[in-house]
Amino acid sequence: MTRTLRPHNFSAGPGELPPGVLEAASRALIEVPEVGLPLLGISHRSKWFGDVVAEAEAIVRDLLDLPKNYHVLFLQGGATLQFSAVAATFLRDRNRFADYLETGYWSRKCLPEARKEGRIRVLWSGEADGYSRLPSDVELDLSPDAAYFHYISNETVEGLQFHRLLGLEGVRRVCDMSSDFLSRPIDVQKFDLIYAHAQKNLGPAGVTVVILRDDVLEEVPEGLPSMMDYRPHVEMRSIFNTPPTFGIYVVLLVLRWLRDEVGGLVAMNRINETKAARLYAMLDRSDGFYRGRAARIDRSLMNVSFNLPTPELERSFLQEAQGQGLFGLEGHRSCGGVRASLYNAVSLESVDRLCRFMAEFRDAADPSVVDQTRPVEAVV
Ligand code: PMP
Repeated sequence: MTRTLRPHNFSAGPGELPPGVLEAASRALIEVPEVGLPLLGISHRSKWFGDVVAEAEAIVRDLLDLPKNYHVLFLQGGATLQFSAVAATFLRDRNRFADYLETGYWSRKCLPEARKEGRIRVLWSGEADGYSRLPSDVELDLSPDAAYFHYISNETVEGLQFHRLLGLEGVRRVCDMSSDFLSRPIDVQKFDLIYAHAQKNLGPAGVTVVILRDDVLEEVPEGLPSMMDYRPHVEMRSIFNTPPTFGIYVVLLVLRWLRDEVGGLVAMNRINETKAARLYAMLDRSDGFYRGRAARIDRSLMNVSFNLPTPELERSFLQEAQGQGLFGLEGHRSCGGVRASLYNAVSLESVDRLCRFMAEFRDAADPSVVDQTRPVEAVV
């Protein structure tokens, strides 16, 4: 099928990638000119691929202003393997424990994996509030004795994002940044370990970036499966076994785009703020027709989750949106509704197109449905 119009892709991940990246990746699939072979047929031990990893690492370092005592790894197993690897690194000594938060779908998934490796305390759960808000600092009884403190900076399903740094000085800080990594500047030096899979802001599924401070390696116990032991990956510069060569190459293309075309993380953040502000303004102007799930202060710039007055309206909203070239708007299977993901590569033009559609859809809806009482966002 030939497409005449580029779709507007609001998928929660794997998600939108810059058009130039997709074109360059498809050309490389056929042939990488420097090598004269298709990308999928080039050895991971070739000089060319070693240079790909080195350049990707260098751009991550540059974008984040990363000090020398941090390592950058491109691993496999998704963020889910990191749920286990982090806990296995620090908690196999049975006298230790870690502090965790349960702020949404993904942190709930993380907890049982960590528990398989050791003892954790769940300091706060958003379950009673239907995961509609994040905790304030006074609600968190953080322990200075924890081996580490773990949180998820952006809950992808509920659309909740921390807009501040959490944790205690002197306690290792570990963060799953899968759905907002490289969407805004961060002070990396406050973190001991950050992990993020690529399929939101960085590239295709199959690659997970891990950034860790050198002294974390001293904590790794003997006997871990090699894929969960950070040391061989550091030693072999992410080429311990056969890495996902295609995925890492596409990550490199996205990183070049972010540095050279967007202009880095400050510029990226400004664009992301503008996109989210336009969409939230649309929700707020809709007189309760579009109902945001997240408390206002915790609204995510990456994932905007909302409901319409009835499930029937949600169904026709999604169907009509697709008919107009607006894709990937279905809410997560755990909670339904609508979710627009505004990752780095989603353009302002796509967001404006979505807002226009939302205004038209609302204006065309039967006014008697507008006041029906489905829960409205928590105003916290
Ligand atoms: N953490 C977060 C914040 C996520 O959004 C997801 C998946 N979307 C995961 C972890 C799980 O990632 P993966 O499928 O790569 O294991």
